Amino acid sequence: MQRLQVASQRIGHRLGVRLRRALSMGITGRLTLAFASVAILALAANVVVEHGVRVVQSIHLERSQYSPVPEAMGARRIVVPPVLPAAGRRVSGEAEIRRFVSAVDRVQSSTEIRAASESADSDAELSTSSKELSAAAADLRRVLPRPSLLPEMDAALLAFREAGAGYLQRSDARRSAAREYVARLDDLDARITVSINAGWKFFGRVLARESLLTVRSDIESVRRLFGGIGDPGQVAAALPEVAASELSLRKAYDAAEPGLKSKGADWLRRTRDDFARMAALRDSVLATAAQILDDRLRFASSKARLSAFASAARAASAAADAAAASTAASAGGPTPFLRQMAAPKSSPVPAAITTTTTETLPDPDRRITVACITAAVLVLLSAISIWTVRSIMVPVGRLLEATRKLASGDVEVRVPRGGMKELDSLAAAFNRMSVQLKTARDITLDYRRHLESQVEQRTRQLQHLAERDPLTLLANRRRFFVLLNQSMQRAREIECGIAIFFIDIDNFKNLNDGMGHGFGDRALISVAQRLEETAASFGFAARLGGDEFTVVHEEIFSREDAHEAGLELVEAFRRPLSVEGREITVSVSIGASLYPDHEQCAEDLLSAADAALFRAKGLGRNQLAMFTPELLEAATRKFTTEQGVRHALEHDEFELVYQPEVSMNSLEVGLVETLVRWRLPDGRLAGPDEFLAVTEESGLIIELGDWVLRNALQAASNWHRGRWPQVKVAINVSARQLIDRRFVPRIQQLLREFALPPSCIELELTESVLQTGSSTIESLRLLRSLGIAIALDDFGTGYSSISSLEQLPLSRIKLDRSLIAGIDSNPRSAAIALALIRLCAELDIDVTAEGVESESQFACLAENRAMYLQGYLLSRPVAETEVLGVNERMPQVMHDLILARPSAASSPKATRRVKIPIHG
Ligand code: C2E
Ligand code: CA
Ligand code: CA
Repeated sequence: MQRLQVASQRIGHRLGVRLRRALSMGITGRLTLAFASVAILALAANVVVEHGVRVVQSIHLERSQYSPVPEAMGARRIVVPPVLPAAGRRVSGEAEIRRFVSAVDRVQSSTEIRAASESADSDAELSTSSKELSAAAADLRRVLPRPSLLPEMDAALLAFREAGAGYLQRSDARRSAAREYVARLDDLDARITVSINAGWKFFGRVLARESLLTVRSDIESVRRLFGGIGDPGQVAAALPEVAASELSLRKAYDAAEPGLKSKGADWLRRTRDDFARMAALRDSVLATAAQILDDRLRFASSKARLSAFASAARAASAAADAAAASTAASAGGPTPFLRQMAAPKSSPVPAAITTTTTETLPDPDRRITVACITAAVLVLLSAISIWTVRSIMVPVGRLLEATRKLASGDVEVRVPRGGMKELDSLAAAFNRMSVQLKTARDITLDYRRHLESQVEQRTRQLQHLAERDPLTLLANRRRFFVLLNQSMQRAREIECGIAIFFIDIDNFKNLNDGMGHGFGDRALISVAQRLEETAASFGFAARLGGDEFTVVHEEIFSREDAHEAGLELVEAFRRPLSVEGREITVSVSIGASLYPDHEQCAEDLLSAADAALFRAKGLGRNQLAMFTPELLEAATRKFTTEQGVRHALEHDEFELVYQPEVSMNSLEVGLVETLVRWRLPDGRLAGPDEFLAVTEESGLIIELGDWVLRNALQAASNWHRGRWPQVKVAINVSARQLIDRRFVPRIQQLLREFALPPSCIELELTESVLQTGSSTIESLRLLRSLGIAIALDDFGTGYSSISSLEQLPLSRIKLDRSLIAGIDSNPRSAAIALALIRLCAELDIDVTAEGVESESQFACLAENRAMYLQGYLLSRPVAETEVLGVNERMPQVMHDLILARPSAASSPKATRRVKIPIHG
């Protein structure tokens, strides 16, 4: 039972919902309904008001007709008493007399009717009755007993006819004036009405101008009063009232006239004419009304005369009859008939016009009723409007509020359903959108979380990359400083030191250029791995760039600890590295600095280690150097020098000097060696020992070497085309220059440019070139094949080996100054020098002895005629301009030296040789 109840409730609820939905109207429906209601109400109100107006108008229309009311409408007729008594003694000619009297009655009656109203019927009736009277008069004439009565009959008949005609004429004139009056009034009314109607017409004339309404009301009142003077008898009494009412109308019009100016002057003039004409007409009506009464009386009395005649005729007939019948009857006074005729009944004019009107112009009650209706309509309208606006605005407000919430991010917001169809649909759409937005937001949130995690991951990767060297995956420079700072922090905490090792792979450039960059990269990776493995137990390794690495050793308690750690690193590279399946051995130079002993901040500690590295490199390969404050100065100097060389190259501050190599065979300058100088801003000339090492290390040697090459060839070209066609210029070339693939083409290009044969130049290299790989040796072979001489400089020092004589395509060796220096004092040096000279002679390689400073050295070498000598003893390096002079003086110098030597005389060959230039 309960379930049934619930089910029925549910069904009822659903039905209710469906019904509500079915009945629920849209905005269009509601607005249509609301405004249709407004329209209907307005129409109804208008009808009510207009109805009242029409009633009033119809009444006035009726009155303005000013026509006597037809009999049917209740107008009373003139009652004329019978001329003959109803009963009496019959006389001869009685029938004619009766007929005559009756015809007179009929004429009188038709005249009255015709006077009261002009119509075809009344005209016809009058005409018929007149003819009938003429006929009756003719008949009577025949039967008259006394001919003496005839003149009287004719005269009375004529007077009757004339009086009737006059009466009718006057009535017509009066009616015409009255009609014109009403027509003028109507005209005025119509114009005023048009003006009123031209105004806002709402609920009739509610909104018409008050002054016009007054004019209109006064017109109505004039019309009503004027309508009341249908009875000419009342005209005199009524007209003053009409005149007063007219005056009031004039006043009302005068008041309204300013508002009617827009109608134009013509309009206003016509209205004024109407007023004037109406006054004239009113006067005319008044005048004719008085005359009509006279005419009527005259007409009545003329009829009385006829009646009297008829009575006389009858009496005469009776007398004649009596005489004829011999029964004379005595004649008496007037008969009752004649008496009756002599005293006609009064009220010959039509009675007052009956009227069906119950209302005149809107009276106060009516106005109140209309106002009440209007107020009710307005209230109803307001209620409908409020209901309509509310039914739209409430759901719109809810929608707006929800939209605002949605815009501020509240995707949970929902709009209550219901109300107008469109707004309900909008609410439904909004709710759907809200749900979709929520879903979209959830998806976006998920996606954002996903993106964020990806970004985080990428950031970590980027951070990793940003902190890692991409090639070796060691910490990069940035990360190195972070880690070093952390190490320093720990060191401070546990009160110990840190060693920072700056590591550089010896001759890595050669390896890289010789084996290719791919191989070089893999070699770097191997080096990095080796360093990482080694450092793992005590610190960390990092790559700063190129072939520069660092290792930080934590927990150092003494300098010895640091030294040992450094050596451990050097030792680590004694074992070969495996690169691409090949085993290669590299050595490293290491500079070390200590925290907190040497510097306090990470950057300075690294600079200190760098300075120590420079020192280690200076010591040769595979060295470890510890920082000292002096090194820092050297490093500073190095930096300053490097900047200076750059500046000098840009501002052309380098110069070349030339030092002769003199042939012992010809005693002439065989060739001049080009030596570079730097003209410092203070004018001093700096030698290569002051800047060359830094220039080499920084790579600027390529640029400087090229500059030397071009300028040396320029000088050679000048000499070659001048006084020294056999010129030969020796040019010092750094191993770095030779490694450059562009070097050989560059030489060829310059030779072409200066139009010099290859025999004009000789390139001087040191043995370091042997470490640059096979490609360099290939380049040398190419140069040799082009006819360019190659000299091996500084032979007999350092690692120079006999094997280089075999490997390199040499045309000359230059015995190092250190070897020559002891040639005259140290038998071992002399033995080595002489052995080398002999060896070269065997190999057909020229030999130049460098640094010949003394005559005793000269004497030791002078025996070897196949060789060349170079040194201060013969000539210091000189400027380009001095070279030719030196060349010219050289044979004499040589001659003097030969002669001056102890064993000069015993050397006839030398003497012979010396002679040639002296005499040539
Ligand atoms: P080097 O090639 O062995 O040049 C000879 C050096 O010995 C020159 O020094 C020269 O002035 C000096 N010298 C010559 N005779 C004597 C002497 O009797 N006694 C003494 N004590 N010294 C003598 P410099 O001009 O200072 O050159 C030094 C080194 O600089 C050169 O040694 C050479 O290796 C290098 N060098 C000079 N100019 C250039 C250059 O243009 N390019 C390259 N790559 N290296 C150059
Ligand atoms: Ca040299
Ligand atoms: Ca040398």
